[in-house]
Amino acid sequence: MVDYDISVVGGGPAGLSAACAAAKSKAKVILFEKDQSIAHNIRTSGVTWIEEIERLRISKEHYNPIKNYTFISPSNEVTIRGSTAKSCVLNVRSVYQHLAFLAAEAGSEIMIKSNVTNVVLDSKNRISGLKVGTPKGEIVIGSKLVIDASGFNSSVAQRLGLVSRWKRYGIGAEYECYCENVDSETWTLMVGRQYSDAGYAWIFPLSKYRVKIGVGIGRPESYTDPVEKLNSIIEKRLKPLDKMGKIQPVELHHGLIPNEGLRKSTVYDGLMLVGDSAGQANPLVLEGIRYAIEFGMLAGEIGAKSLAQNSDKGSLLEYERIWKKRVESKINSALKVQSRWIGLKDEDWDREIEILRDMSHEEFFDFIKAEFTARKMLRLALNHPKLMARQLFDMVLRN
Ligand SMILES: Cc1cc2nc3c(=O)[nH]c(=O)nc-3n(C[C@H](O)[C@H](O)[C@H](O)COP(=O)(O)OP(=O)(O)OC[C@H]3O[C@@H](n4cnc5c(N)ncnc54)[C@H](O)[C@@H]3O)c2cc1C
Repeated sequence: MVDYDISVVGGGPAGLSAACAAAKSKAKVILFEKDQSIAHNIRTSGVTWIEEIERLRISKEHYNPIKNYTFISPSNEVTIRGSTAKSCVLNVRSVYQHLAFLAAEAGSEIMIKSNVTNVVLDSKNRISGLKVGTPKGEIVIGSKLVIDASGFNSSVAQRLGLVSRWKRYGIGAEYECYCENVDSETWTLMVGRQYSDAGYAWIFPLSKYRVKIGVGIGRPESYTDPVEKLNSIIEKRLKPLDKMGKIQPVELHHGLIPNEGLRKSTVYDGLMLVGDSAGQANPLVLEGIRYAIEFGMLAGEIGAKSLAQNSDKGSLLEYERIWKKRVESKINSALKVQSRWIGLKDEDWDREIEILRDMSHEEFFDFIKAEFTARKMLRLALNHPKLMARQLFDMVLRN
């Protein structure tokens, strides 16, 4: 049996960033990814924010910059135009492979097509290793600390009975397409029942002729199949697809995202949860990649430091304290807005997107990025006396 200081389960943005940071801190690290390559199955759309993602060492060759933001409801449309690009659509495969190269360069081992199937416990019931199905057969490795970065399934923590399956979640399907007429500087969100009965549809451009068209649906509010819905939107050429010319899907992406808020506890003796496994994504606009990278790095650093104290829960609590301080209140506020959005009828949506039309650029970005600090929300409520805006911001501020 080979022994490692830290083993990471999952080669998404959280796991790759954790492996990189832990290896940089001189820990002996191995990462397991069950798919046959890093980013083989894409489960995400890749919209994020340029300033934040560049701070995390993702440079412009990995994304398409976005200046304008359009919201379409059944009988309304609002476009917010910017003079500079603030958002972007990531080339997800190139970003994740870049993160894998950084992890490898830092000294982490990476095993692809390697599915973690079980956890090994010692005589005191403490995690001491993992069982992994690999192309060479089943292996058992020893590990002082396991980082569960397995995404939606929190597979290690669930196997140990420490967490239960998410009950509220979003399910999404997306085609990456050749498309004849794409405005490559504008992303579009479409709301209302014809697009999604509990969520929204999107158009996220990657370049002049390459675009992602997708649908997200909230469970348990709706059990509609997102692929069927997506096919119907494309077949019916719902607005704005009617102006996009030839649309030819070349790749189907499919994914699940927790929509319930944070896991209560994300550290245990010898175990950390990070990324979607910990519930670190912003549910308002299904945005989790930058958090997965940021908190993956944090988990790797603190995890490596904890080895000196046997990686007991107490030595890992600093990780939980820091990440919760950065996002807990924002995610909770985003959930409140989302619970309002999920119940809206078509005519409500026509009115709701008017709130966005009234916002300044700064207000819009704070809102869509879920920067719901009390000070910012109060200013918004004061600046926007319209009843709906007031209701929305009152709701966010209420505890
Ligand atoms: C439809 C949809 C659209 C989204 N759009 C956006 C967006 O536009 N912008 C954004 O920022 N976020 C978006 N998100 C959210 C974002 O994708 C996630 O928050 C992010 O991917 C979380 O990263 P992660 O590393 O925690 O998990 P994942 O990216 O899910 O990675 C987990 C990895 O673990 C592997 N794995 C799982 N179990 C095992 C096992 N037992 N053994 C070995 N490997 C295992 C999986 O194969 C996977 O590669 C979207 C999500 C969905 C579902």
